[in-house]
Amino acid sequence: MRQIIRAATVFLALAIPCATLPAFAQNSDTLPVVTWLPAQPDPGSIVQILVHRARIGPDSITSITGLLSGEPLHFDSSARTRLRALGGIPVGATDSARAQIVIHRKSGIIDTVAAAIPLRVQAVQPAGPPRERLSVAPQFGREPDSALAARIARESAMALAVSRRSHETPRLWRGYFARPRPSRITSRFGGGREFNGQVRSRHSGVDFAGATGTPVRVSNRGVVALVADFHLAGRAVYVDHGAGLVTAYFHLSKINVAEGDTVVRGEIIGRVGQSGRVTGPHLHWVARYGEVSVNALTLLAIDPPPPVKKKPAARRPSD
Ligand SMILES: [Zn+2]
Repeated sequence: MRQIIRAATVFLALAIPCATLPAFAQNSDTLPVVTWLPAQPDPGSIVQILVHRARIGPDSITSITGLLSGEPLHFDSSARTRLRALGGIPVGATDSARAQIVIHRKSGIIDTVAAAIPLRVQAVQPAGPPRERLSVAPQFGREPDSALAARIARESAMALAVSRRSHETPRLWRGYFARPRPSRITSRFGGGREFNGQVRSRHSGVDFAGATGTPVRVSNRGVVALVADFHLAGRAVYVDHGAGLVTAYFHLSKINVAEGDTVVRGEIIGRVGQSGRVTGPHLHWVARYGEVSVNALTLLAIDPPPPVKKKPAARRPSD
């Protein structure tokens, strides 16, 4: 089959309307237009990448693939006017994040669109997010010995494997994402953490207040991919929402689900506790797109996909 490869590069955030479209789109209405939401995402957030069907013309799409920050994108063809994929902006990204989208058409034409997504400048805190000083049990404050370091590495690899496998799972989430707890947020995503006086890491989740035994609800539909008792995360549940997206719920006292269970938004999957490296009972909520850790609160802004159309019931032959 004849193959024509065309390429376009988008450097500016396109919040539509047509007047803001770059020259390539005005010269040819058959080249796809790629936009994203939010227009200037924060580092460490989920972004929605949109390919607008209206500009694609009659030459139908046979496949669409893409990469953002090295992770594959999964476009959902269920929307009528556009195709949408989620992606993750790494917390350490500065200036812009690069997306590349490849659209194969029935005619053999291949369109490649490269986009440089501008990131929001963190002007408020030029020195970075504030540090948090935490006091934990001495065994968590010390440098781990080699056996413990090996255990932590092994557990981290298990969690990353869940994230990688999620790229093979079809999208399972529906509707909006919901908070796992209605309570106060006690620690935000991305802040520097000092444990017993030593800076160890950035806070990789969002902490919600809660007394031991209070409910933890899953944010959206998915499959329980891992139930674990980890050194740092304590008793934890990892839920694969499909199409690259995983959420996890740490430090639980009780777990109500098993690996392989399908869970729906709002279902109680466990109870708040203080297992693992903690200062007291709370929920630590994690979100990952592939291997990219993102602020789970940014999931709450994702537009729901269109509802699944029910097939009309087959008409019984009249007798
Ligand atoms: Zn936390």
